[in-house]
Amino acid sequence: MKRDDKIFELIEKEHQRQLYGIELIASENFVSEQVMNAMGSCMTNKYAEGLPGKRYYGGCEVVDDSENLAIERLKELFDAEWANVQPHSGAQANMAVLMTVLNPGDKFLGLDLAHGGHLSHGSPVNSSGRLYHPIAYGVKEETGTVDYDMMEELAVEHKPKLIIGGASAYSRDWDYERMRAIADKVGALLMIDMAHPAGLIAAGLLNNPVKHAHIVTSTTHKTLRGPRGGIILIGKDFDNPMGIKTKKGVVRKMSSLLDSAVFPGIQGGPLEHVIASKAVSFFEALQPEYIEYQKQVQKNAGKMAECFIEKGYKIISGGTDNHSMLIDLRTKFPDLTGKKAENTLVLADITINKNMVPFDDRSPFQTSGIRVGTAALTTRGLKEEHMAPVVDLLDEVLSDPDNEATLNSVKERVNNMMKDFPMFAD
Ligand code: PLP
Repeated sequence: MKRDDKIFELIEKEHQRQLYGIELIASENFVSEQVMNAMGSCMTNKYAEGLPGKRYYGGCEVVDDSENLAIERLKELFDAEWANVQPHSGAQANMAVLMTVLNPGDKFLGLDLAHGGHLSHGSPVNSSGRLYHPIAYGVKEETGTVDYDMMEELAVEHKPKLIIGGASAYSRDWDYERMRAIADKVGALLMIDMAHPAGLIAAGLLNNPVKHAHIVTSTTHKTLRGPRGGIILIGKDFDNPMGIKTKKGVVRKMSSLLDSAVFPGIQGGPLEHVIASKAVSFFEALQPEYIEYQKQVQKNAGKMAECFIEKGYKIISGGTDNHSMLIDLRTKFPDLTGKKAENTLVLADITINKNMVPFDDRSPFQTSGIRVGTAALTTRGLKEEHMAPVVDLLDEVLSDPDNEATLNSVKERVNNMMKDFPMFAD
């Protein structure tokens, strides 16, 4: 077979970009060689519609073992009773839950996208906002922290069927206990999307939503450090049928309904190569050194937030409990948009993303903020002492974004710095 030089050249180009740049996108990470190898394996050739032991294709014995390992390891990691590892992405996992617990037009609560929520928690451009009736709660302007009183008031007023917690740009831990109490008070189900902090939760550094929520979803590729994908978990409510009945009037367990929502509800054949790779990443997350890695992610984020604050930047909520922080650029650079910051930093080989800040006066295309995170840099081996130099480099660019000489000089220093840090965790 003729080699596809074009694509392999592009893959190498992307490899070089990742190798020599400073990666601060809070939702990204670098997987280990074994996670990568499992993904690029012959498991991609296998069709396996259904679940382990209940497939619609022959020859699934081996992928059954692999998928079962992924499920068992994942349950152990989060102390869950049940798990589905098939969602192709975090958005698919959320879609499957909404399809299971809501009917079209049903009300649910989710964090406002402009306050750090995710598209799949009720944005009008996502199926969650198009098919159902989302009502948004927000963060408090003074503190930047989730307004649980507002959540409770909205829940009492609207009687939603579901309350969603979790965010894409929120640097504080969540009060899952309070959220469950609010959900119980109004007879709603509680779903927590732990996509961002999942790795820190697995390491026991943040509250575990599986203990409190009816259903938990996540991606596997952010702090968790697995391949791109989604998962769904249930904890103590595993045996709770929650009154959901099939058309024939049979009450089915929530877990069984979720399995059916993933396949055949919204997906076809599972990606068994990705599931094998998820299993490898869960294996890694069960090792003692993973806890050290996550502690370092958290320490680096704390130090980075301190360094930004010292330089006069405003961090929403004043700091971070996890791997990420949301920076309101307006206090230091009133005229600099998040868009301009993102586009300029990338010229110096520093990648971040623009992000709306709560109560932003700019559009989602411009934004007044940027979001940064430390999961990827920590995988490369950077420690607290490297955070000040990284913040200095960002500040140099943002202070003089139109100066080409500054950009070139910072880019050279970024590339030199990253030469000292290997790509893979191991
Ligand atoms: N949920 C949250 C909280 C997220 O931040 C994201 C992605 O950033 C997702 C879900 C969606 O994940 P995916 O991109 O895998 O669909």
